[in-house]
Amino acid sequence: MNGVINYMEVLVEEHMEILLKESNSCTCDRCKSDIFALALNNLKPYYVVTQRGRVMTKLQMTEQQFDTDITIEVTRAIEQVKNNPAHNVTIL
Ligand SMILES: [Zn+2]
Repeated sequence: MNGVINYMEVLVEEHMEILLKESNSCTCDRCKSDIFALALNNLKPYYVVTQRGRVMTKLQMTEQQFDTDITIEVTRAIEQVKNNPAHNVTIL
């Protein structure tokens, strides 16, 4: 649908970049994709219609509301991928 995005994806990606820097885990594309998918599966999607302007103010409030949950789920996903990385496993 035109202009509809899962804003949770944006928030998870932002948190992931920050949390990955703080952790000692691998940041290859495969691990990042796995962390991203794992975290998103444990979070509720948040669909928004993107329009320029005032929507962004509303989204910033949303970010504060979800901040703790996202941090918890992304941290958990990072640990999970760190303990069981897929980057050197060949999946047939
Ligand atoms: Zn990796």
